[in-house]
Amino acid sequence: MILRITREQNRLLLKETRKRWPEEACGLLFGDVSGKEAVVKKVVMVRNVLESPTNFQVDPEEFLKELSKAEKEGMQFIGFFHSHPAAPQPSPTDVRYMRLWPGDIWLVISSVDYSMKAYRIVDDELAGLHVEITDE
Ligand SMILES: [Zn+2]
Repeated sequence: MILRITREQNRLLLKETRKRWPEEACGLLFGDVSGKEAVVKKVVMVRNVLESPTNFQVDPEEFLKELSKAEKEGMQFIGFFHSHPAAPQPSPTDVRYMRLWPGDIWLVISSVDYSMKAYRIVDDELAGLHVEITDE
């Protein structure tokens, strides 16, 4: 599967990753998923209520507010973004949560080298997505 994000969205994610360091930054990805392609149309940064350098938890009120806003805008929730002060590989805790909603995409950015990877659960296995950064 391919995940398309724009250069501008990518810039926002990297900015948030730097800003929140050493804590994990987190955000919500909205857009469209069709067939083998997911397109990010909107990125919304949210508070990591854990304020932790090793874990994140999205503020549930912000999450609900943004979900209903996006619904009105005709966009669907497609997944989460968060940063890691390590490699952009999902932690065992991440994978545990990923298994609860297997369709969701998890985009992880390393706050060490700013590399980015995306994953989701396919047939009960962790599967990588090909991330493509587009001009718009
Ligand atoms: Zn994580």
